[in-house]
Amino acid sequence: MLLSLDSVSKTYTDALSTVHAVNDVSLQITEGEFVAVQGASGCGKSTLLLTAGGLLRPDSGQVQVDGQDPYALTNDARAEFRARTIGFVFQQFHLVPYLNVLENVLAPAIAVAGSETETRDRALQLIERFGLSDRQQHVPAKLSSGERQRTAMARALLNKPKLILADEPTGNLDHQNADTVLGYLADFAADGGAVLLVTHDDRAVACAKSVIHLQNGRIAEPVANAV
Ligand code: ADP
Ligand code: MG
Repeated sequence: MLLSLDSVSKTYTDALSTVHAVNDVSLQITEGEFVAVQGASGCGKSTLLLTAGGLLRPDSGQVQVDGQDPYALTNDARAEFRARTIGFVFQQFHLVPYLNVLENVLAPAIAVAGSETETRDRALQLIERFGLSDRQQHVPAKLSSGERQRTAMARALLNKPKLILADEPTGNLDHQNADTVLGYLADFAADGGAVLLVTHDDRAVACAKSVIHLQNGRIAEPVANAV
């Protein structure tokens, strides 16, 4: 099992309001599975993904990634575990503004040991795969949002993660680039990886083997995809 959420809940509370963003969500994803979570804006998709990715501790419930509870680790150990195991594609990309495309894609290598030449070759391959070869030296401010999104995708894949958590990864892409990204995710799952993609894009949902509908932080009936 690569990802297991057991009764995970996360509530945001401040002086003015309480939002039950994720409410008692359980799901499991094994090797080779491509699961989409679909739901309206504000239904808790990003919160769910952050809790699954070891980036936001749930208030209650259990998260296991590749057999490990990331929240049981120290901050340093968790960062290293995440870098080795999880490829996270943020909805807002979170690229480093003063690093160019190649440097951004290479950034996760800092957290893990590996051959510098091999890592660089892999970064260049990913950059090519996502159609960014002629943008390598550009900093994020000089990229279109679609190019930023593809850079974030390449970065997430650098360390050969076992699990990809992707937050609306086609949100800023035209059809052709969306197909490239979705094709990559499908290949990744076909090669034994696991993918959890959250989206409100029907085209992205169509690529997944199963779809989970999220409503107000809760899972509605799971349904098999028609394709
Ligand atoms: P989605 O990704 O499906 O659009 P989010 O997980 O971003 O949904 O948000 C779920 C709900 O939680 C929304 O109502 C949102 O306003 C609220 N929310 C998200 N992040 C925060 C936060 N940091 N503080 C307070 N409320 C938040
Ligand atoms: Mg979101």
